[in-house]
Amino acid sequence: MRRWSVVENHKPLQAIEYPDPEPQGTEIVLEVTHCGVCHSDIHFVKGEFDLGNGQILKVTDRGVKLPCAPGHEIVGRVVAMGPEAAGAAIGDHRIVYPWMGCGTCEFCTSDQENMCLNSRSLGTIRDGGFGSHVMVPDSSYLFAFDGIDPALASTFACSGLTVYSAIRKLGELRAGTPVLIMGAGGLGRAAMAMLQALGHDRMFVVDIDEQKRAEAIAAGAERAFDPRAGDPVAEIVAAAEGRLFAALDFVGNRNTIGMAMDCLSKTGKLALVGVGGGDYPLSLAGMIFKPRSIIGTITGSRQDLREVIALAQSGKLQPMPISCMPKDCANEALELLEQGKVSGRLVLEGA
Ligand SMILES: [Zn+2]
Ligand SMILES: [Zn+2]
Repeated sequence: MRRWSVVENHKPLQAIEYPDPEPQGTEIVLEVTHCGVCHSDIHFVKGEFDLGNGQILKVTDRGVKLPCAPGHEIVGRVVAMGPEAAGAAIGDHRIVYPWMGCGTCEFCTSDQENMCLNSRSLGTIRDGGFGSHVMVPDSSYLFAFDGIDPALASTFACSGLTVYSAIRKLGELRAGTPVLIMGAGGLGRAAMAMLQALGHDRMFVVDIDEQKRAEAIAAGAERAFDPRAGDPVAEIVAAAEGRLFAALDFVGNRNTIGMAMDCLSKTGKLALVGVGGGDYPLSLAGMIFKPRSIIGTITGSRQDLREVIALAQSGKLQPMPISCMPKDCANEALELLEQGKVSGRLVLEGA
C-alpha cells in the first residue's frame, strides 16, 4: 500500500510504500476511493497550532508519530476483514467515521468519541485517508451512503459533521432572526447548506473575499459583508434589527471572534469552529451586562454523522461544490486550499 505522508513538518508530503495492512480480530481494511482535503490537513502538515500568548501546540505533542498520512474525510471500499469482523462485507462502499477514541472512557461509551482524551483519530493522530488503504477497528465506524455521490459523502465525515454539530450547539434558532456566518469558505458554505436543510434560511455572511461573498449570496445568503469596509458591526446589527442570537465562526481569529461577539444580542451564542489561532481579549463586565456564550466545538458524534447522511438522503441538504483531483496531487491540493483558491471542497480520488 501507499501513503502520502508528512515526514517532516512544513515540508511537502512524500509518497511512501508500506506492506498491505493485515486485519486482526474485528479490524476491517478499506481501499480509499475518496478523501476530502480539509484545512486541518494544512495544520497537520505544518505540525503546529497557535494557542495565543506566544504558545504553540505541536501535533507531535498530541501523540502523532511521523511519518503520518493526513486525511480524515474518507470513503472507501471494504477489501479485507479480520477473522472476527462482522457487520460488513467485502465490496461495501462506506464513509469512515474517523474520530476514534480509546473506546472505553465515559465519552467513548456515550457516543461522544470525538471528545475522548486519548484520541486515536484517523488523519490527525494516526495514518489517515491520504493513502491507498485505511484500517478501522470494527464495522461500527463504517456508514452506508446509498444514493449519495461518494466524493460528496466523504465530506460528511468532517465538514458536514462539524457544521451540523456546531449548528446544534446553538440551540433552537429563533425563527425570523439571521444566523451570522464568519468565513464563506468550505465550512461556511457547508453551514449555509446545512442551515437551509434544517429549515433556517436567514443567513448573514462575512468574508474578506469579494468572490466568496458573491457566491454566498448566489447560494442563498441574505446579506454578505466586507469586514474591511465601513463599520461592519453597525451594519450587521442594523440589518438584524438588533436581534442576532446565533453566530458561527469558521475562521477563528481575534478579528472574526471580536466582530461576531460585538454583533450578538443579549443571550446570543457563538460557536467557534475555525482554528485561525491566537487569542481574544474579553471584557468580563461586558459578558455580564450583555450576556453571551462562546462555545468551542470540534467535529461531531457518530449519531451526528447518521443524521447528516439522512438529511442528504432526504434531498434537503444541497450538495456543496466538489472538485476532484488524483491522490498523487495531494500537495497541489493542499497548496490550492491554503491559497484560498478552493470554492466548496477538494476531494482526492482514485487508488
Ligand atoms: Zn477536517
Ligand atoms: Zn475514550
